[in-house]
Amino acid sequence: MNAPVLIVGGGPVGTFAALLLAKHGVRSIVLERRATINPHPKSRSVSRRTMEVMRGLGITDERLAAISLPASWTHVLVYTTTLTGAEIGRVHCPDFTSVPIADSPCVPHMSSQEKYELVLRDLAEECELIDFRVSTTVEGITQTDQACELLVSNSHGHRETLTSEYVLFADGASSPARQWLGVQMHGTHDIATVLDVHFDVDGLSDQVQQRIAPLLFVASDAGVGVYQPIDGMSEWRCQIFGAADGFDANDAANWIRGTAGDETLDVHVRSIRPWTMHSILADRFQVARAFLLGDAAHVLPPTGGLGLNSGLHAVHNLMWKLAGVIHGWAGRGLLETYDQERRLVTEISAQSSFRNSVNFGAIGNAYRSGGDVAGALRQAESYGRFAGLDLGLRYADGAFCGDGTQPTPLEQTSEVYDHSAAPGVRAPHVWFALNGKKISSLDLFDQGFCLLTGNAGSEWVSAARQLGEKYNIPITAFAVNAVGSPLVGSDWLRSYGLQEDGAVLVRPDGHIGFRSQANVEDHQRTLASALSVCLCRSELHADRS
Ligand SMILES: Cc1cc2nc3c(=O)[nH]c(=O)nc-3n(C[C@H](O)[C@H](O)[C@H](O)COP(=O)(O)OP(=O)(O)OC[C@H]3O[C@@H](n4cnc5c(N)ncnc54)[C@H](O)[C@@H]3O)c2cc1C
Repeated sequence: MNAPVLIVGGGPVGTFAALLLAKHGVRSIVLERRATINPHPKSRSVSRRTMEVMRGLGITDERLAAISLPASWTHVLVYTTTLTGAEIGRVHCPDFTSVPIADSPCVPHMSSQEKYELVLRDLAEECELIDFRVSTTVEGITQTDQACELLVSNSHGHRETLTSEYVLFADGASSPARQWLGVQMHGTHDIATVLDVHFDVDGLSDQVQQRIAPLLFVASDAGVGVYQPIDGMSEWRCQIFGAADGFDANDAANWIRGTAGDETLDVHVRSIRPWTMHSILADRFQVARAFLLGDAAHVLPPTGGLGLNSGLHAVHNLMWKLAGVIHGWAGRGLLETYDQERRLVTEISAQSSFRNSVNFGAIGNAYRSGGDVAGALRQAESYGRFAGLDLGLRYADGAFCGDGTQPTPLEQTSEVYDHSAAPGVRAPHVWFALNGKKISSLDLFDQGFCLLTGNAGSEWVSAARQLGEKYNIPITAFAVNAVGSPLVGSDWLRSYGLQEDGAVLVRPDGHIGFRSQANVEDHQRTLASALSVCLCRSELHADRS
């Protein structure tokens, strides 16, 4: 084996996968056909939940803020005729707003993909467990029961075969791997083709000071599209709808002057890329030892900024499972819960993104036809409201044990965070002190399993430690506020829906794996049975010791 895991594609998703695997002690080789990061801006929204996951890699809010749109630009979405012309309306977008809230230790950022991809790439290149090979193209895969083989060529014409236990395909929206694996994409293809323009212009940011926004939608005879400020100064990007064939940099500069409403603007176009919107999902995310991740698995409309965030959340879902199987503390069946857990969430995100694209079009149409603009703006409020898909992320089925409570299905709570701590749901953020140092509950979760109980829960702690040792499972356990406990916190029992003698087991991806709201008779047996479900290890279920 050249490495336990080969990763095809060193975009944000592939790089993130390598970093998370390394965090779990798994070596990988990343194979990326480009020589450098694509400088054209693409996705920008880095959600709160994504930042929480990045926090686990040591990527701080300060680091992202330094390369993102200033926070003052992130409060509202603005709909205008032209950038400097009549305003049609505006809606609040709390889930894009870069300000702290009580429900998370992190803030979201509007950070252009090529800039934060560089943050990830730098980390990967510094990491000893990651071999990041650029200018290297994967040409095919063969799989046996024991291994995967990739045929690889580099820019010097050297060809070789690399072998691994598992392969992750993060090779983007036009992934050739899907064809190699016999996977089909289903959903709505070819929703629209937009022309994506990256440009510099002085003075425009000053002209829009009364309507600064992460997204400025324009709809007038001069054109229909959306402006996306990148640094709040001179760097911008826009997406042009309905551009004619052959539209070039000169046409783009004219379009920008027309839809900005200022014919004197000195526009310097850096790059233009056509981009076709789809809302499609792979019919399988796993084929034997190969997995599809990111845009290779699902391509979402950009409206709502859920595409790349979903890709990164899915990586977080799979990497601990893969590490567990490779290290031997999880059963191989656990890998199948990647598709089982992520499919519904991704479908709901795709539907929501699609609705946003329809709603955005309806505003301009209502304005131009003298229709119900206020109604169209109300409909569009959902664009910046996706906390349920982010902080409230939950799985309906998978590697966790239900506790008889019925959390609200994600379909019904995709826009709001409903503070659930039921099994399958992202564990809530609360502040704790660990050995006197202020930490988030989330900081306890990402190395392994974590059991939390109250000050009457010492038997849970003993059971967790014994099972961890006996079955070689990475697990930490705390009786919060118990005498001598290093972990202290107030009001956390209410957030987690527990009594002092209840317990919650959180998985390494920060989702609740098991919860017992009150005490049980046989702690070890109860916990062994829960771990057997969370890890797909049937021998644990039979534990009687
Ligand atoms: C022009 C454009 C504009 C976009 N705008 C938005 C937006 O506004 N909002 C939004 O949410 N999303 C947007 N997206 C989508 C967003 O960029 C993707 O969701 C994101 O890039 C997905 O990351 P990824 O790592 O899965 O794939 P990618 O970023 O596509 O990375 C895939 C990588 O795999 C490499 N690769 C492919 N095949 C091979 C091979 N055979 N061998 C080796 N390497 C290979 C590629 O070179 C690439 O680096 C846009 C995309 C484009 C193209």
